[in-house]
Amino acid sequence: MGSPGAGKGTLAANLRTLNAEHVSSGDLFRREMKRNTPVGIAIRKTMKRGELVPDHLTLGLMRKWFWGRKSARGFILDGFPRTRIQAVCFDEWMETRGEVLTACVLLELSESETVKRLSQRRICPKDGTVYHLAHNPPRCEGRCDSCGSTLVQREDDIEEVIRRRYAIYERLTRPLADHYANLGLLSVFSAEIPQEELTARIFETFNLAPVPR
Ligand SMILES: [Zn+2]
Repeated sequence: MGSPGAGKGTLAANLRTLNAEHVSSGDLFRREMKRNTPVGIAIRKTMKRGELVPDHLTLGLMRKWFWGRKSARGFILDGFPRTRIQAVCFDEWMETRGEVLTACVLLELSESETVKRLSQRRICPKDGTVYHLAHNPPRCEGRCDSCGSTLVQREDDIEEVIRRRYAIYERLTRPLADHYANLGLLSVFSAEIPQEELTARIFETFNLAPVPR
């Protein structure tokens, strides 16, 4: 869990050596939008306004993803659950599947830092590579280093929309931290520490080790 731009996706990518299945609700949303499905069209409308994708759509996509999927090395969920209803449904799915949630990681980032990060974020529309104009700029201005495509700004990465997303996060998602704290599963990390160090701390905190494929 974490506010927009806290680095959930990057962290999940850095944990790939755990050989767990990774699912990002944002990736599922973007896939639907790209295919222009009715669900994708509805999602685009809400994301453009900086609002949360409605629970029934998020739950529908996540459920479909989970359906029949097994992973000996477990799952890393990135950006799900985001609301109380989603958390309750997820608890039920886990129970039905006979699985347990082992940890909830919360990445914390202040609102001002969130705005600073996201408003300068640029993305390659072709391969999804993420750049930051100040901290991780492309070698050639406006072009992706790996494929040369023209970089774009996500339509929900403009300041007004970022602030709305942050407010919604504080109101609907942040309170879930209590739910997981009560279950003894919550670990909180500052999202301002460099990603490499954060990844190392997570490995240490949960006593994890990379798994050979
Ligand atoms: Zn590219």
